[in-house]
Amino acid sequence: MSNTSLQEIRKKLAPFNCQLVAVSKTKPVEMILNLYDQDQRHFGENRVQELVDKQAQLPSDIHWHFIGHLQTNKVKHIAPFVHLIHAVDSYKLLKEIDKRAKANNRVISVLLQFKIAQEEAKHGYSGKDIFAMLDNELLKSFNNIRIIGVMGMATFTDNTAQIEREFTALQVYFDKLKNNYFFEQESFKELSMGMSGDYAIALIHGSTMVRIGSLLFGNRA
Ligand SMILES: *Cc1c(COP(=O)(O)O)cnc(C)c1O
Repeated sequence: MSNTSLQEIRKKLAPFNCQLVAVSKTKPVEMILNLYDQDQRHFGENRVQELVDKQAQLPSDIHWHFIGHLQTNKVKHIAPFVHLIHAVDSYKLLKEIDKRAKANNRVISVLLQFKIAQEEAKHGYSGKDIFAMLDNELLKSFNNIRIIGVMGMATFTDNTAQIEREFTALQVYFDKLKNNYFFEQESFKELSMGMSGDYAIALIHGSTMVRIGSLLFGNRA
């Protein structure tokens, strides 16, 4: 277990006041507990069943982040406890999260995912569809969700200039949403970007939350 990485990452994040989400997908609960014992409380998972299983086995004061693509029919399984859903990319999903949050007597925080990478497979909103979605009047009736920011993934590449362009694009989306839609909402302040390979670049571009897996837990099979 690379405990030095945790200390090193914390040191790098501290001046930016950026939160570390330890991405524990595919890793055993023992490894999560090891970081927990060093005061790490935010963990991220990308599969519903795996998250539900781990949540049941681990301390209840862990803040669980769902960082993967979420299917509407699975929202109900994580709605009782999830801390933040990072990758919301449709009105239908927002509606379902609102419904399931209400059923659990909670308000669930979410981030809107933007497509910033050039890779085809990545989910997320484009600039155009986000404004159409936010202009939907029905959104105002969703009292059990709180949209607190945006999330994105840069292209997996060594090309630093490209990663910088993509993170800058996300920063611009964040500012646009903040200035046009969420200017009265103080809690809209999260910019979730940066992973093991590119988090240093993300920090320079205003990331408030990095999602780091392999650097903390080792490579995944
Ligand atoms: C797996 C994953 C991460 C962490 O990736 P690493 O390169 O291992 O740090 C971050 N964000 C998302 C959405 C992921 O699926």
